[in-house]
This record gives sequence, C-alpha cells and structure tokens, in this order.
Amino acid sequence: MEIDGFRGRLVTEDDIGYDGARAVWNGAVDRRPRLIARCGGTADVAAAVRFARDQDLEIAVRGGGHNVAGTAVCDGGIVIDLSAMRAVWVDPVGRTARVQGGALWGDVDHETQAHGLATTGGIVGHTGVAGLTLGGGIGFLMRKYGLTVDNLVSAEVVTADGGIVRASAHEHPDLFWALRGGGGNFGVVTTFQLTLHPVGPTVTAGPVFWAAEDTTEVLRFYRDFTADAPEELGTVVRLGTVPPLPVIPEDLHYRPAMAVASCYAGAVDDGAHAVRALRRFGTPLVDLIGPTPYAEHQGGLDDTVPHGWHYYWKATDLAGLSDEVIDVVAEHAYRARSPRTYAAMFHMGGAVARVPGDATAYAGREVSHNIIIDAVWLPEESGELAGAERAWARGFLHALAPHRAGGVYVNFLDADDRADRVREAYPDHLYRRLAEVKAKYDPDNAFHHNKNIRPA
Ligand SMILES: Cc1cc2nc3c(=O)[nH]c(=O)nc-3n(C[C@H](O)[C@H](O)[C@H](O)COP(=O)(O)OP(=O)(O)OC[C@H]3O[C@@H](n4cnc5c(N)ncnc54)[C@H](O)[C@@H]3O)c2cc1C
Repeated sequence: MEIDGFRGRLVTEDDIGYDGARAVWNGAVDRRPRLIARCGGTADVAAAVRFARDQDLEIAVRGGGHNVAGTAVCDGGIVIDLSAMRAVWVDPVGRTARVQGGALWGDVDHETQAHGLATTGGIVGHTGVAGLTLGGGIGFLMRKYGLTVDNLVSAEVVTADGGIVRASAHEHPDLFWALRGGGGNFGVVTTFQLTLHPVGPTVTAGPVFWAAEDTTEVLRFYRDFTADAPEELGTVVRLGTVPPLPVIPEDLHYRPAMAVASCYAGAVDDGAHAVRALRRFGTPLVDLIGPTPYAEHQGGLDDTVPHGWHYYWKATDLAGLSDEVIDVVAEHAYRARSPRTYAAMFHMGGAVARVPGDATAYAGREVSHNIIIDAVWLPEESGELAGAERAWARGFLHALAPHRAGGVYVNFLDADDRADRVREAYPDHLYRRLAEVKAKYDPDNAFHHNKNIRPA
C-alpha cells in the first residue's frame, strides 16, 4: 500500500511491528486498524488525511496514545500516528516552546527544564501533549500559570481537507478558540507553540501519605488548607494503596492509604513554608516532600500507571469538598479489590478560574476540585476482577451523583462515556459554538473517532 506524497512509515497487519504500533497505553484496548501511517512531519500528516478522505477510511489520530478510551486507534481504518514527531524546540529568550504533535510531557519537561522553564503539563510524563492540550490541560502548575490551553500561543493544524493552517488569536481565531478545550475534533495539530515560565529547576515537591483510616480527617483538613493555599501550590490527592516505588519503604507497599502530592511553583523556601501545615497534620505514614528537580517530580508517578495494564475510568467535577462528599470518597475509595486501583482529585482554581468562561472552549473553570476514579488491573486479571473493578468505579461515581458540579473534564471520559457524556463536558453555549466551528472546519465529521462534537 502507498500514500501519495507520504515519506513516513506505513504499518499493516503483515508487518512485524503491527501489534506494537496498534497498542496504546490502556492495554484493555485491542483494535486492528487497516493501516498505521507513522508520519515524519506535517507534510506526511496532510498526505495521510487526504488519502483517508479519498479512500473514505475511518480516521483515528494518535498523539501520545494515552487516552483511556483508546480513541487513538480504530478498527479497520487508518491511524494517523504522530508518535515519531516528538521534537521540542525551546526559545529561552522569547520563553516559548514549539512542540510537535506526538511529543510526551516528559519530552517537554526535559527540554524546557534545561533552561529553567516549564509550562503547565500533565502529572505523568508519558502522557501525550496533543490530546492533553486539546482537552484543556490540568496539572501542578495550573493554579499559578493557567491550563495548558491558557499557554497556547498558536498551533499548526492539518484540516479535514488536508490543508495546513496556523491558528492563533489572529489567524483562524474561531479554530484557535475551539482547539483550546474542544479536543481532536477540528484537525490534526502538528505543532503547538506554548508559553514558558521560570520554574525550578529545583522545587519543593513530593507526596505525603496517611493511613486510609485517617482519610476523613485528612480530607477535611485538606479542604481548608487548599482554600487558603497560595496559587504557586498545586496539589493532587490520591486514594488507594501506597504504590511500590523504590523511594517508599517496602513495608508500606500496597498498604491502603491516601496521599497529597504537592508541587510549589516558586522559591524552594517559600514552598517549604506553604506545605508546613500539611506535613504536620495527623500522623503521616511517610513524608517525601523536599527540594526536588521539577522534571524528576513530573516523572515520579510514571511507573505507577505503566503502558499495557488495563484501565477503566469514571470522572466528574465536584461541587466542592463538603463533609458529605468526603464521606462518600472515604467510604468508596478503598473498596476496590485491585491494589493498583486508585482515585485522584485535582485542586483547581487560581489562574484557571481567572480566565473568563467563554475565552476558550474549556468548561469547568469555576470548579474547585474534580475526581477521577481509576480502576486498574493486570492483563492476566481481566476476567472476574476486571468486572468487579469496573462495577466499583461506576458505583463510586453513582454515589457521588448528588455532589456533582454538573460537568466533567472531557479528557477523563472513557469509551463507554463517549455516546452520552461528551455533551455533559460542555455547557450549552460552549457546545453550540464548538458545533459551529466543527461545521466550518470539518463539516463531514471526518474526525469523529474521539470525544465527538457533531457539526452544527
Ligand atoms: C496516566 C494518565 C495521567 C493523566 N494525567 C493528566 C493530567 O495530569 N492532566 C490532564 O489534563 N490530563 C491527564 N490525563 C488525560 C489526558 O489528557 C488524555 O488521556 C489525553 O487524551 C492524552 O493525550 P494523548 O495525546 O496521549 O492521547 P491520544 O490517545 O494519542 O489521543 C487522544 C485523542 O486526542 C486527539 N489527538 C491526539 N493527538 C492529536 C493531534 N496531534 N492532533 C489532533 N488531535 C489529536 C484525538 O482525537 C485522539 O483520539 C492523563 C491520562 C493518563 C492515562
């Protein structure tokens, strides 16, 4: 098989590398595309889009391949695969980075930290920049520097007709608006230009763990602690078991526990001051906060969620951390059977909430916390345990129903949410505007193997 004007690598079922090339982060996803077009650059992406449209092929677009729903790979169609396009070019004077559409956050942190710079990215280094950015982009730096989309200066986009355009505040501003939260609906982004900020390279960061029995008290304290926290302080709560990382004493591994992971985007001493009360609360099992290279902190969770394990997610925005929410969380978080399963809550606010709600397509700027319920099991456990873990995740979400804020982060939706919960991710006025931009840039809905916005 050949694609006119394509210089990358084409992978089909007959190639030895086919199974590796069709695998995504979530090992539970098992799809068999007819063709994987591993692109070398923008011209290849444009050629692959034109070919797919000519041949009327189902299109999946792969950035980091990390989305839990596995939308980066389709059955029977073509995968436009950007995983070989991972370059990051830093302009330390202008404080921007140009990042190719297949780069991972570990690539970005590695290159930008060489200059003492960073931008808001995901909390796991092997997550793709593209999918994360297009959905909004939440992470440790967001309360100080905004969402990833708030740092997006421009994007090079291959549109549904195979054309190449640049989207920015001044060029195709409607497309630029939609790219900042509307997901992969509007074209294939081959380069992101992102604003950078001075961060680290050493920051005060790390997790503190408490025993599961202390969850209610710790979360009540955490609610008040985060209400007054400086914007430099980003925190994520993790509830499940202690991950078996080499930095954690072995006798604690897999013990039911909750953790608060912190990262302070400012001077190390100011960070130490900001987390003092948190570290002193109750009786931590282990406290790993300290001066840490920012890039190392960003990679700290990588081994807890490796490629190939099986994952199933449920998520929602929360209407605050009331006592009732805390009770539901404490009651459900430790009922899963798999020791790899966990739930996580992100503390939002700060710079995220200061941007007007319709400035970008990202919904949920007013949300203070969200939760993601992550069922995890090993491939060889995918029988009865998988069913139990899935049921646990759905039951946990159901128990939170009275406390939901009425939205959900689109990037946390799983495959079985795609039919009805994408609509929940956007309030009516944002969805209508997204549908209009979709009708202009992709009227035939060629890019639909995603969290789909239908053309108006
Ligand atoms: C372990 C883990 C940790 C995470 N942590 C965070 C976090 O801290 N913050 C956060 O905000 N999110 C986080 N996420 C969610 C993450 O944002 C999504 O999974 C996101 O889709 C990952 O992007 P990707 O490029 O790897 O996705 P892929 O699976 O490659 O793609 C997902 C979809 O994005 C679109 N897409 C991908 N590449 C392109 C492109 N170049 N152009 C146009 N469309 C494209 C396509 O529609 C595709 O179907 C995390 C996910 C995981 C699994």
